Amino acid sequence: MKNKLLIVFVLAFSTLQAQLLQNKKTFTKQDTLRGSITAEREWWDLTYYHLDVDIQPEEKYISGKNLITYKVLSPHTVMQIDLQKPLKITKVMQYGKSLTFKRDGNAYFINLISNQNIGEVHTVEVFYEGEPKEAKNAPWDGGFSWKKDNNGKHFIATSCQGLGASVWWPNKDHMYDEVDSMLISVTNPKGLMNVSNGRLRELVENDNNTVTSHWFVNNPINNYGVNVNIGDYANFSEVYTGEKGDLDMDYWVLKDHLELAKEHFKDTPKMMEAFEHWFGPYPFYEDSFKLVEVPYLGMEHQSSVTYGNQYKQGYLGSDLSGTGWGLKFDFIIIHEAGHEWFANNITNKDIADMWIHEGFTSYSENLFLDYYYGKEASADYVIGTRKNIQNDKPLIGHYNVNNEGSSDMYYKGANLLHTLRQLVEDDDQWRQILRGLNSEFYHQTVTTKQIEDYLSKHTGIDLSAFFNQYLRTTKIPTLEYIIDNGELKYRWTDIVSDFDMPIQVGIDGKTQWLFPKAEWQTKTINADEITIDRDFYVYATKL
Ligand SMILES: [Zn+2]
Repeated sequence: MKNKLLIVFVLAFSTLQAQLLQNKKTFTKQDTLRGSITAEREWWDLTYYHLDVDIQPEEKYISGKNLITYKVLSPHTVMQIDLQKPLKITKVMQYGKSLTFKRDGNAYFINLISNQNIGEVHTVEVFYEGEPKEAKNAPWDGGFSWKKDNNGKHFIATSCQGLGASVWWPNKDHMYDEVDSMLISVTNPKGLMNVSNGRLRELVENDNNTVTSHWFVNNPINNYGVNVNIGDYANFSEVYTGEKGDLDMDYWVLKDHLELAKEHFKDTPKMMEAFEHWFGPYPFYEDSFKLVEVPYLGMEHQSSVTYGNQYKQGYLGSDLSGTGWGLKFDFIIIHEAGHEWFANNITNKDIADMWIHEGFTSYSENLFLDYYYGKEASADYVIGTRKNIQNDKPLIGHYNVNNEGSSDMYYKGANLLHTLRQLVEDDDQWRQILRGLNSEFYHQTVTTKQIEDYLSKHTGIDLSAFFNQYLRTTKIPTLEYIIDNGELKYRWTDIVSDFDMPIQVGIDGKTQWLFPKAEWQTKTINADEITIDRDFYVYATKL
């Protein structure tokens, strides 16, 4: 008993300490090098990577090179390339010449040959090797997962969201710039198969008991989406007829799970139908869609979504909404595939704006339910997930230092979008807006401001205060009201300036709009109670 209390006290204390540390978080020079568009990054535009990597599972060792193709935007001869310790860059070559470079932590500054003239396209080859960081708790604390399957065979995967792709290969490790296409060549022991992004172009058997798979990605791809998954895989596939024609859907699962997967993955075409309806065509038809089993929970790797939800419904068998609706689908298939539209198609320029990935994708879970089970079911679900919101920190993090905002970006993000749907009050228009976002920002990296402006323009509502409230503060608007002698008095409190969101209420069994502001408003009513529409993510207090 006593011990338990002590544990509770220690936990509470350390949580408080962690919060204080978080609020006062100071950033280092390394954070700035990683998180900002430095002068050594800004002058060149990425066009192509050919990552060629040899993976030795017994030694937990990797070695290889990345051929980087870039276009010169302004004359400069120093290029920043990132690679995280304990890996190291051993050599950099340009047109047969060995280049010199200086290292500052995880950033390398490479002195290119002269004549980097505006408009020219050049290549540089970066060689590297070492024992990459091992994932402690993939995918959140990522790196390489060196696991074995139940038959004792190697089961290996990379994951690096937030941490950065430079944890396992050298690249320009900032979200703002993406290659236009990429070739991923992976060499691994014979008897195992590697599945990366895009389409398998060639599988080559080498003399030294290894195989090399060449995967080509025919679309822009963000760094953290690039992945290696090596295992004793079986493969099955189907063709989905979607909005842009025939889409190849490929499934790679451990051999022992083949029959289980054939049954369980039926959610995948269902997902594709619902999301194409709401968001428009799947953004990567050229690259196919793949679901790949991995030894961790899952990740939105572009066109090769990784799966480790143990073939269960919900999130590892549990319902994040507590309403029962969360058990109607496999959370990892729906959520991670939803990221193909929000994260992979529309990508944040700075990870501080990651709510664009997680808010819209968490919201997609309820749209999947809406498509198959209707509007009430979907509202139950998204409202049910409010219990997971902490309101500890704003959704937007600190810019230019590789800093994510609060984990509320998931369910507070989803609920702010659900609230916005109410303000639009026209589901067809709302759907066209969601589809419009995906065509307006097709294959682009964006800022929160661009998303805000698009939504304000296409809803016809000035949403500046709305977004300031929900994205930039932890305050939830509270409707204060008094009912006295047939008079309803009401106002918003806990709001940012200019916040004047209308809200739907039930008065005398009739639904109507109220237009609260910071100042008291009055309305004559014939009732002694009102009901606040549950679809709005607000608080209400009757005085
Ligand atoms: Zn996500």
